[in-house]
Amino acid sequence: MTVASASVTRIPVRRPLVVVAGNPNTGKTTVFNRLTGAEYKVANYPGVTVERHSATLALPGGAVVDVLDVPGTYSLSARSREEELAIQTVAGLEPFESPDLVVLVADATQLSRNLYMVLQVLELGVPVVLAVNMVDMLEERGQSLDLASIRRELGIPVVETTALRGRGMDELKQEIERALADPGRARPGWRWIPEDPALLADVQSVMQTLPPGWVRGNPERGRAIAIWALLSLDAQDELEAIPDAVRKVVEKRRSAAAEQGRPIDAEIIGGRYAWIDARMPLFLREPDAKRDTPNERRTLTERIDAVLLHPTAGFAIFLIVMGIVFQSLFNWADPAIHGIENLFSLLASSSRAWLPTGIIQEFVGGGLIAGVGSVVVFLPQILLLFFFIGLMEDSGYMARVAFLMDRIMRAMGLHGRAFVPMLSGYACAVPAILATRTMERQRDRTLTMMVIPLMTCSARLPVYTLIIGTLFPPSKAFGLLPVQGLLMIGMYLFSTLTALVAAIVLSRTLFRGPPVPLILELPPYRVPHWPSVVRMMWLRTRSFLEGAGTIILLCTIALWLLLSFPRNSAQKARFEAERAQVVARDLAAGEQGVRLAAIDVAEGSERMRSSYGASLGRALEPAIAPLGFDWKIGVGLIGAFAAREVFISTMGVVYGAGDARGSGSTTLRERIRAEMRADGRPVYTPLVGLSLMIFFALACQCMSTLAAIRRETRSWRWPLFLFAYMGVLAWIASFAVYQGGRWLGLA
Ligand code: GDP
Ligand code: MG
Repeated sequence: MTVASASVTRIPVRRPLVVVAGNPNTGKTTVFNRLTGAEYKVANYPGVTVERHSATLALPGGAVVDVLDVPGTYSLSARSREEELAIQTVAGLEPFESPDLVVLVADATQLSRNLYMVLQVLELGVPVVLAVNMVDMLEERGQSLDLASIRRELGIPVVETTALRGRGMDELKQEIERALADPGRARPGWRWIPEDPALLADVQSVMQTLPPGWVRGNPERGRAIAIWALLSLDAQDELEAIPDAVRKVVEKRRSAAAEQGRPIDAEIIGGRYAWIDARMPLFLREPDAKRDTPNERRTLTERIDAVLLHPTAGFAIFLIVMGIVFQSLFNWADPAIHGIENLFSLLASSSRAWLPTGIIQEFVGGGLIAGVGSVVVFLPQILLLFFFIGLMEDSGYMARVAFLMDRIMRAMGLHGRAFVPMLSGYACAVPAILATRTMERQRDRTLTMMVIPLMTCSARLPVYTLIIGTLFPPSKAFGLLPVQGLLMIGMYLFSTLTALVAAIVLSRTLFRGPPVPLILELPPYRVPHWPSVVRMMWLRTRSFLEGAGTIILLCTIALWLLLSFPRNSAQKARFEAERAQVVARDLAAGEQGVRLAAIDVAEGSERMRSSYGASLGRALEPAIAPLGFDWKIGVGLIGAFAAREVFISTMGVVYGAGDARGSGSTTLRERIRAEMRADGRPVYTPLVGLSLMIFFALACQCMSTLAAIRRETRSWRWPLFLFAYMGVLAWIASFAVYQGGRWLGLA
């Protein structure tokens, strides 16, 4: 008995919680990955769709702790939801768990600005171990840290690290272990406190309204949180944590101070910086006058920037770089994509040869293998895009892209870094959506995801080509401009304009928020670190396969079921009989094959016409008839949900035109042209074609896009919103085009 109870008491109630925080781009994630081996779990913060990464770390002594990666933030003065989350996590404000230790990561080359946040966290009385990272870059400048001074002045353990190469990580683990065992080590014996009595009175009155659970009977903690609330009020819309009672007092105090001409913000912020600036000369040892390498380094980056940020030359180079990225997604990925498509259709047909005829065989060939194929087919573009993004991030060029594009993108409410994802959207929305990760703020990411699917992706191209080639004459407008080419260019312009207008509208309505101060850092250029680039490609790919991949696979299978059931045994028997007849007749082998294939096509077509999908298409008809579409187009639209270009093969099957790719498409075109309504008018007129193209341009009929957004926002809310808003937009625009065209007498 005693043994059992003794062993029970040794089991900890919960594992200690260590939080990794710091300014953006200081190497938090790199430190986190180094500490934990990056086998992290991804989850959302309670109640919001901002991702948090957590993993476990085994300390040298054997104890295991939970480690949490916090979104990067410049300070604890919350201007955005991410910054607010950072302080909630660090301070352990309800409903967040209090961390046992905060590992603050600071960039050694930006020490004074980074220490600002360190001061704030220390004011909260949370135990802190400071990791001063990027020491390699500091050394390149010839500077070095005086760790003893930093430790003495801050009163906490300080470690210097180069997380990229794993330097200093063992020491960091040791300090984490010691601080957890003895939190007093990691709590300084001093606090920064405002000096002005009027400001102290403001702080005092805010403190009195704070929830007791925040203060926890600790007046110093209460004071730090009150200072935070006093500084954080310019972003009321987005912030959720500050209770209304606190907010009211803060507003009153701030407006009173403003009337008295007391600038609260300047006083608090300036006070902290004064503390830091007074000590910086102690913390940083400047290079010897003799060594001039750092200046050379600096000027190298500056000299490169003089070209790359040049208003004309820089912009030209930028366009060339983007052109290469775009070209690679569009053309270089193509052979791999075709290879994958061929491989999977080969697999499907050989499975047909291996498996006994029947429902299993059809499921494996038509549902399962096609489903896996529709996931794998995204990999070439994802890998290529993340290869380029990795290069641009790691070399330092991405920051310049954001810099060059920021003014233009900002005018549309978008982040400068949204440019690369938007451009990638012309190739495919799925990798583009994954690429929004280069933006730190969730608002910027979600807004960009809501407009990317409007860009003309490459899957829309074959659909436009079919429609334009079938329904529009190869003639020239005004005797010189080819109508078909003009239409294609028109579709591109149309989609780009819609995406930009959507960004402007959404950023001023749903995504309205406080303007974020432009803090763009231009890190020094460096040769990309290949392992990091490859690692990022792999992590992205894996999370796509695990998250979006499963949804895409399930949807493909569901669509297959929808379009191949129910079974009709009489129908099947009839086609079997026809086949038997052909076999029985003594035909040349080639002739027999052709006839059997024709029967297969006819059977597939008839089966699809009696499938659940067809019933759905008919049920859809009243809704889409005002756009000029009949139920067969409805079936095609349902099929297009798997991938837009599937529209063509679905139409091919509906019309019994065989495989629409390759030679079959001529037949499909003829059949489409010949299709008549009951009253003898053709179903497909140029007006219907235009309406259909507009519909394809605007509707989000792509389950892979929805699955990717679901994965990236970790909720169904945004994919559903996207589907709804694009659907409504598509319907209205097609309606306007078709009905307007009829009114003008065009059809
Ligand atoms: P986070 O935004 O704070 O999570 O920062 P990341 O971990 O994403 O790192 C930002 C960039 O700095 C990445 O390109 C890293 O490869 C790079 N980096 C991280 N640690 C170091 C370091 O110790 N030295 C150098 N030179 N680069 C680093
Ligand atoms: Mg990070």
